[in-house]
Amino acid sequence: MEKNDCVDMQVIGMERKDESFLNGYKAQLFDLVNEEFNEEDDNASQCLFSWMKAVRDTLQAETVLFYQRMENSYHLTEAISTGNHPVSVFPDVLEAIFKDSSEVCVKGADSHSDFASFDYAFMMDDQHGSCGILLASGIVSHDILTLSKDVLEKFSAASCNYLKKMNLFLQIIEDEHRYRELFKVNEAFHSSMDINILLGQIISTLTRVFPDYHFHLLLSNDNDKNHGNLPIKDFDYDRANTAAMEAFVNGTIETDHHYSEQKLTLYAPLKGKQGVYGVLEVVTGLPFKFPENQREFVRLLAYTAGNALENAKLYQQSRRLISDLQLINETSHRLNSNLRMAETLTFLKKQIKRSFQASSIGFVFIDKRGEYKVLTESSSFFRGIEGTTCINYVKRKIFTDKEAIFIGDLSGKFGKELSYLSLMAVPMIQNGSIIGFCIVLHKEPYSFSFDMYKLLQSFIHHSTLALTNSMLREKLEELVITDHLTQLYSRNYLDEEMARAINQDEQGALLLLDIDNFKKINDTYGHQIGDEVLIQVAKVLKEESKEAGFAARWGGEELAVYLPHIDLKSGIAIGSRIVEQIPKGTKPSVTVSCGVSSWKSGQEDHVKDLVKRADASMYYAKNNGKNQVANILN
Ligand code: GH3
Ligand code: MG
Ligand code: MG
Repeated sequence: MEKNDCVDMQVIGMERKDESFLNGYKAQLFDLVNEEFNEEDDNASQCLFSWMKAVRDTLQAETVLFYQRMENSYHLTEAISTGNHPVSVFPDVLEAIFKDSSEVCVKGADSHSDFASFDYAFMMDDQHGSCGILLASGIVSHDILTLSKDVLEKFSAASCNYLKKMNLFLQIIEDEHRYRELFKVNEAFHSSMDINILLGQIISTLTRVFPDYHFHLLLSNDNDKNHGNLPIKDFDYDRANTAAMEAFVNGTIETDHHYSEQKLTLYAPLKGKQGVYGVLEVVTGLPFKFPENQREFVRLLAYTAGNALENAKLYQQSRRLISDLQLINETSHRLNSNLRMAETLTFLKKQIKRSFQASSIGFVFIDKRGEYKVLTESSSFFRGIEGTTCINYVKRKIFTDKEAIFIGDLSGKFGKELSYLSLMAVPMIQNGSIIGFCIVLHKEPYSFSFDMYKLLQSFIHHSTLALTNSMLREKLEELVITDHLTQLYSRNYLDEEMARAINQDEQGALLLLDIDNFKKINDTYGHQIGDEVLIQVAKVLKEESKEAGFAARWGGEELAVYLPHIDLKSGIAIGSRIVEQIPKGTKPSVTVSCGVSSWKSGQEDHVKDLVKRADASMYYAKNNGKNQVANILN
């Protein structure tokens, strides 16, 4: 007999019941494809369940169990039974069924006595390998129990084919779903520059796509510690595990198996164009697997997130730089406007407080002998014991290292706990030598960023010159003995001369003069004319006092004359003459009010007392109608 004839004989030999069995099953699978494979219903267990129902109906079985092949073993994934609760078998027993058999289908009754309770066991196999084992029991139909081997093999092949198609379909749906998420998150990334919003988006996307996994974002250089409830940790360079470190350093995706804890961790770098900003950690339990498509998704998400994070960081950085520049500009502007030293420091303190949310700010000057002086504008902390320890530490360090100091955590630095844990200190350098320094403190550790440190350096750098200028000017003012506008003596000079006279002489008199209604002169004729009038008044004073004493500018439109060795009577006489001469010597004409006081040795008088009496007398003259001399309290 020819070989072909033999095949024909077999086909013809296929019984009618076999044929209708197979056709019936295939028709059911066909229906399933139409019903189940649609986008709305992408639930894997639902699809599997429907298929199992079809299997049970076709085999007219009481119980069907399906063990899916995962990695290298079989797991019970679906069981349907109309009778008692189905009995499952251990995976090793399951594998033993097919161990001695090359058959696709094993009949429980004729092979292993252990499986006598099962009528059929099918190995779902094709040329690419097995996708699972199907067990059926409680089959009563004689027709089904006597199906030919050929039909059983075809049943197995059709099932395997169906399962593969189903898995493929499910995977496509799953992928599509994931890429939709990726698209959505990408869109969100481009619409926000807020880092916390971005990080929140990453986590919520991952939780939606992989509800069974756990996630953490390990961020490097994360200055913002306030992330609310987000699962964010610092990337710890010292303690990070090798896989995380490799992901971070090489910018590659890495996995780490923790068999003892039954954990598999995936690390994906959050990579931008300029660097890696941290690592995304994804932890899964059993089954121990990250399918390739999931890895790819995590990689893409981490990459998108890295880029978004980079953009947001750059944006924040540029905004910060702009505001820093504005601040420096504003500060320089104010500092250049010839402020007094106290005003300069108060302004600087305000700017520093505002920019760094600092708790304590100290300004320390160092004199030529190396001794320091805490300026009054400093916070009170610097006048206490702790403050002194801190100043001494900074002073020593600045003089040794000749550079600014930046310390994130001061714990244990001074042998005992300090009230402040973050410190920045910047030296004030003038012509190459250190003339002082500024210390900025915060109670919490790591409160200042490196950018803040740079900004403080810039502040101090810009203000040192202004500070030394105002310091020098104030020193100079003390040294100068002539008033610039009136060319009379300065008040400092007057004070010193009076103090000397009270020490050495027997007696003397002081006249204090204030121009009457001077504001009106300014308002009517302008300040320049006001100045000229002031100069004219000074000229009269000089003229009238040149024989008996000297005149000085007390301040503003108030002037003074000191008359050494002169008694009260003569003093009043000179005062009267001055009051008389002023209206004649000024244009527009003004009058003055004059208060006189005098002293005699043995009276225990100080400059202060002499001035107080002259001042009171002058006010008396003002209140009494102006343009007159007065003496009270003498
Ligand atoms: P009173 O008779 O009570 O002294 O009235 P007054 O207007 O002179 O006193 P007031 O203290 O109200 O005003 C003093 C004015 O003197 C205001 C200030 O602008 C002006 N003044 C002070 N120093 C100078 C100066 O150097 N030049 C000019 N032009 N004006 C000055
Ligand atoms: Mg006045
Ligand atoms: Mg006046």
